[in-house]
Amino acid sequence: MKSTYKAVEVSAPGALRVVERQVSEPGVGQVRIRVEACGICHTDAATVAGVYPGLTLPRVPGHEVVGRIEALGGGVSKWKIGQRVGVGLIAGEDGTCEPCRRGDMVNCQNPVVSGVTADGGYAEVMIAEARAIASVPDDLTSAEAAPLLCAGVTTYNALRNAGLRGGDLVAVQGIGGLGHLGIQFARQMGFRTVQSAREATRKSLRKTWARMSTSILPSTMP
Ligand SMILES: [Zn+2]
Ligand SMILES: [Zn+2]
Repeated sequence: MKSTYKAVEVSAPGALRVVERQVSEPGVGQVRIRVEACGICHTDAATVAGVYPGLTLPRVPGHEVVGRIEALGGGVSKWKIGQRVGVGLIAGEDGTCEPCRRGDMVNCQNPVVSGVTADGGYAEVMIAEARAIASVPDDLTSAEAAPLLCAGVTTYNALRNAGLRGGDLVAVQGIGGLGHLGIQFARQMGFRTVQSAREATRKSLRKTWARMSTSILPSTMP
């Protein structure tokens, strides 16, 4: 295996460049992933601009990552080499701060944040915390699964926690990277789903999705 890998790194605010890095071994509780796909999220812009709170540079952005595990760090027993996994934005809670102890891990005060406190998926290789990775089902391609790690989980959890019941009316404003997934989740969850968007390009997508009634489509938005 090559001892180096390509990554796209923010070296200074506004400066995104391709670099060659040395492959490193995962630490205790970590895995090394050979990246197959990484979504592009608007939040990445805060890393590129150098304004994300807690960011240190240089940093590799990307927090919708799918790839295969190629090395296991010490103490990692539940994951296997070759297994396909995903990594999102909040990529490891400390488990000891007050929100964590209350079971509110998403508000951890010392989290590992992909592309902010740790290098993300704009790279051929990524080190991830084993406690935060998700298994990816075989019937999803890596490119289909990647946007679910941020845009997907954001819209799905919003619907799941909104106190809605089947048949309720859900309006999704904007058919962008998140909205197009929100529409599909809402339909599949049994809500009366209304979409609203302005641009002409969105209109054709809206027609396509209006005809859809069964499957969750992969993310196709740039
Ligand atoms: Zn995101
Ligand atoms: Zn915590």
